[in-house]
Amino acid sequence: MTDIIQLLPDHVANQIAAGEVVQRPASVVKELLENAIDASATEVKLIIKDAGKTLVQVIDNGKGMSFTDARLSFERHATSKIKSAEDLFQLNTKGFRGEALASIAAIAHVELKTKRSEDELGTAIEIEGSKVKSQEVSVTPTGTSVAVKNLFFNIPARRNFLKSDTVELRHITDEFHRVALAHPNIAFAFYHNGSELFHLPSENYRQRVVHIFGNKTNEKLVPVEEETEVLKISGFVGKPEYSKKTRSEQFFFVNQRFIKSPYLNHAISAAFEGLLKDGYHPSYFLNLTVDPKTIDINIHPTKTEIKFDDEHTLYAILRSAVKHSLGQFNIAPVLDFEHQSQLNTPYSYKNKSAASPSIEVDRSFNPFADDNKAKHTSQYTSFKKAPMASWESLYVGLESKGNNSENDFSEVTFESDSKTESLFGNTSVETSKTTFQLQQKYIISTLKSGMLIIDQNRAHQRVLYENFLKHITIKEATSQQLLFPLQLHFTPNETQIISNLKTDLEHTGFVFSKVSDEDITITGVPVGVPESEVSIILEQLISDVETDVPDANFSATDLLAKSMAKSLAIKNGQALSHTEQEHLVNSLFACKEPNVSPTNRPTFITLGVDDIEKKFM
Ligand code: ADP
Ligand code: MG
Repeated sequence: MTDIIQLLPDHVANQIAAGEVVQRPASVVKELLENAIDASATEVKLIIKDAGKTLVQVIDNGKGMSFTDARLSFERHATSKIKSAEDLFQLNTKGFRGEALASIAAIAHVELKTKRSEDELGTAIEIEGSKVKSQEVSVTPTGTSVAVKNLFFNIPARRNFLKSDTVELRHITDEFHRVALAHPNIAFAFYHNGSELFHLPSENYRQRVVHIFGNKTNEKLVPVEEETEVLKISGFVGKPEYSKKTRSEQFFFVNQRFIKSPYLNHAISAAFEGLLKDGYHPSYFLNLTVDPKTIDINIHPTKTEIKFDDEHTLYAILRSAVKHSLGQFNIAPVLDFEHQSQLNTPYSYKNKSAASPSIEVDRSFNPFADDNKAKHTSQYTSFKKAPMASWESLYVGLESKGNNSENDFSEVTFESDSKTESLFGNTSVETSKTTFQLQQKYIISTLKSGMLIIDQNRAHQRVLYENFLKHITIKEATSQQLLFPLQLHFTPNETQIISNLKTDLEHTGFVFSKVSDEDITITGVPVGVPESEVSIILEQLISDVETDVPDANFSATDLLAKSMAKSLAIKNGQALSHTEQEHLVNSLFACKEPNVSPTNRPTFITLGVDDIEKKFM
């Protein structure tokens, strides 16, 4: 038999490498921006068409390439950045694998123009799918321009896999943010389909953060500075009251390279411990500088994961530095009473301008709750006493063992006890009840053939979801006028999301008087939506739009209805009166699709008498 192993032709090898390096237009953006920075550019322009599907172009004023280098730069493993394996541990450039241009050229049409300052004339090269179409001398300014057109033209599967323009543009914007934040001293401009999205002059770090995330960011930044032998930290964390439901403002840069590190992220969360509400994430923009010898960047082709020699030490330093800053700026609950009370401001109010006073209503407050509690406790005890006595008689003389077997029973007892502590007014209807609540999470009801166990949160989401959908589609909703307009601050990205959904939101009952770059003013809210929930609803909505990755068949209406249902649904852990339980059960079964939540999870399960009988066998 003949030998069967052969070396892959270069263009095939390049395509395979491209699979790792280039996932989407944003990957091209990252690689080209990094090359511009490695070329010591001071001005970098990013030009995008159709979310990068048609064009990604980066123009820099860096050092450019010679005629020969220009051609060589597209070869695989062609790099000017390292010469030997040792250099891998002395890296001060973004690139070093020499793969990016070769990979990109394997799966797109690439036009490169470049000139060094010492040369009179530059070079222009066109490559399509690894094939050089032309290379000629060209009149071009000093620096480099790389235009990548028709990405994945020769890999239809990859092209079809791309998401909607909105999603791809968001990925590109994320990459742009990361590079721009890591290099505040470099000026950047970013254009999409002819309009300028960002124009960032050379500036300091604080200015850069504020330029990218909006003017309001300035007041929320707390500086973090620390210098030790192994690690230098500089940058900012966001004050706890500005924490977000998304992780969209979490940035670690190690030696000016954006990295993802769940471990270090945990160090920050640990520093914020006790200061954040559940489900909220701190913002941070932190630059770590370490000796390049102590890290390994080469563990992932996109280089966003790195390995540290001594992670534990970094963790400890980072946590204490952040803690220290929070304490120093009176953000952590220490000594300072004024700040303490500020900390206690409900999160829903955090974005509100100080000028608008408002009335807070505790919806769960019931002046009669105590009375009821007394009444019900007695009702329950008398109800329970009788069976308890007869059960107990079974265990006479079996002191400890008896207690043990009684556990199940006492658990049931406990459940009803905690229910009577509900702040909702339980009424005397209780005695004839057909439903009860388990663990303040499930509603149990009997069926002819067995029992029904309903997840209260999911069930309520379903009810609200269908309700909102109805309102949005028939475009009639009643809104309640707010006494004082509610002003909320968001980043430009976030207000963009809200303004895209504005019409739909209005159909649910929201009334906007102003939607500008960073502020949203609301004068009316849907009936039944407490004012204090408004900012939570909108934040949830933004977070859902950002993370649910809406693709081609994404419906804004649907997402909005889902998101609002999620925000407003009864939560687990909430005690419900009997009337509320029944109302929920009835509304659920009046729904079009009662058996699943808006996110397609079961809202209830049934347990047949057969199943129960089986358990007793
Ligand atoms: P790497 O960045 O890992 O070296 P690339 O494929 O991204 O690999 O680039 C190959 C080489 O092409 C670089 O090492 C550099 O010498 C040259 N190069 C790429 N982009 C530029 C640019 N914008 N300006 C100057 N030289 C560049
Ligand atoms: Mg590179």
